[in-house]
Amino acid sequence: MTPLARLIAARIRETGPITVADYMAECLLHPVHGYYTTREPFGAAGDFTTAPEISQMFGELFGLALAQAWLDRGAPDRFILAEPGPGRGTLMADVLRATRGVPGFHAALRLVLVEASPRLRALQAERLADHRPHWVDRIEDLPEGPLFLIGNEFLDALPIRQFLRSPEGWRERLVGLIDGALAFGLSAPMPQVPDTPAFRHASQGALVEDNLPARLAVAETARRIARHGGVAYWIDYGGWRSQGDTLQALRHHAFDDPLAHPGEADLTAHVDFEPLAALAPAWAYDTQGAVLRRLGIEARADRLAQGLTGARLDSHRAAHRRLTDPAEMGSLFKVLAVTSAGAPPPPGFA
Ligand code: SAH
Repeated sequence: MTPLARLIAARIRETGPITVADYMAECLLHPVHGYYTTREPFGAAGDFTTAPEISQMFGELFGLALAQAWLDRGAPDRFILAEPGPGRGTLMADVLRATRGVPGFHAALRLVLVEASPRLRALQAERLADHRPHWVDRIEDLPEGPLFLIGNEFLDALPIRQFLRSPEGWRERLVGLIDGALAFGLSAPMPQVPDTPAFRHASQGALVEDNLPARLAVAETARRIARHGGVAYWIDYGGWRSQGDTLQALRHHAFDDPLAHPGEADLTAHVDFEPLAALAPAWAYDTQGAVLRRLGIEARADRLAQGLTGARLDSHRAAHRRLTDPAEMGSLFKVLAVTSAGAPPPPGFA
């Protein structure tokens, strides 16, 4: 058992089984043993690699998309440039470098990062020092104003709850103990579940996931964008309508049993974009591959290839494929752009 598994087991013995959301929150953000608190999850030595860590093109193209959206919305002379869950700060560093040449953009922006992990905040501070970032704990704490936001692989890290439609009604999937070891079980039938399309359309025996923190985060950005203008790009793996049990653990680049190594594996769930889009005054949705192509990844990739030869050229070509190919990240990853009613379509969408 990991140290965190012992703590969670003790808690369950005291107060009973906990929700999958409580379990995820403990695993990811426990102040001493949490995954994001203690580990360096990214890169070859970590547990997973994200799009901005694969190629600078990802951040550059979304940076230019944000700048174009800002221009399309009258180039407000003060706005919030926000990123929830910036990880190592790579995406934002690329956004800022790519937009240096956009007149007025840097002078107007105030950089605000939403980050729970003190360790990652320190990395971001180092990486983005020139742009004097501010940090907040939650999206709700962002300053008011026109909002231009990009969040990559943030929503999938937020705690989900899981519900099973049983013959007796909805039951919640819980984490409890069997013979002293962490094990999944089910609650008694519940009087009420969230009112989203996935629940309304679930058939008998279906497992439905609900990401309440994601709904709150997107609702909050939608409210700000409706009031002050702006665009939010949410990029993540997932789809339209809950896909059953998608809770997954990654440890050393391999799938792991989600209950096996609490605190030592990354825990995520696929994002269901349907209930998130429903919160936006206006939105667009497509695959990452399609959006990157419309943002000009082919031309950018060719341009970067001109300066490369040998192994570096091969790895650049491989990174391009990895981001866009349907067999790699191109189709599994989706982009939801939240915008205001009547505003020009967000860059990257037809
Ligand atoms: N966007 C980065 C990192 C993704 S990993 C990239 O693409 O490489 C998820 C990030 O979200 C990490 O920075 C993690 O510390 C942060 N995070 C996870 N849960 C959070 C929460 N509840 N509140 C704020 N930040 C959180």
